[in-house]
Amino acid sequence: MTTSQSQRISCPNPHCPNPILVQKVSGVVADGTASYVTTTLATKLSLPKAPEEKDLSRAITPAIIGGYGASLLLFALFASLGILFTEIGFVFAWILLGTVFSLLILVAYRNYIKNVARPIKALVPKWDQLYYCRSCDSVFLPRKPDFAPADQMMEFLKCNQ
Ligand SMILES: [Zn+2]
Repeated sequence: MTTSQSQRISCPNPHCPNPILVQKVSGVVADGTASYVTTTLATKLSLPKAPEEKDLSRAITPAIIGGYGASLLLFALFASLGILFTEIGFVFAWILLGTVFSLLILVAYRNYIKNVARPIKALVPKWDQLYYCRSCDSVFLPRKPDFAPADQMMEFLKCNQ
């Protein structure tokens, strides 16, 4: 299927020395990352890795330290204002507030991951259609007149979204 398809698809660059030397970008990346050495070309034509929700687990420890630390600071502020707690009251309130703060930090981090990942994931369908010309180092969408140098692939994808 790819042979007949790629025969019809050619590089739109009018100055291209050999416009039939084209390959799907996803294929170039798959070939270039198949061995343990990733080729420079495969790196250049890859989409940046989107952060995933499983990356959240790495934020748990910092969130707990941050959350409990922040609530301790709050109690220091209370104490400086003359608001004092009994020992039991302090421990109880510290655990409660520390947990709430930790959860808030995790929720904020989860939203951050989603906000960073969303625009990258939105580019995947277009990236999947993208072709690369080995002859002039351009990327283009099949049967479209626009093309761009391979190292400007991200800009090209964003413009053609
Ligand atoms: Zn070309």
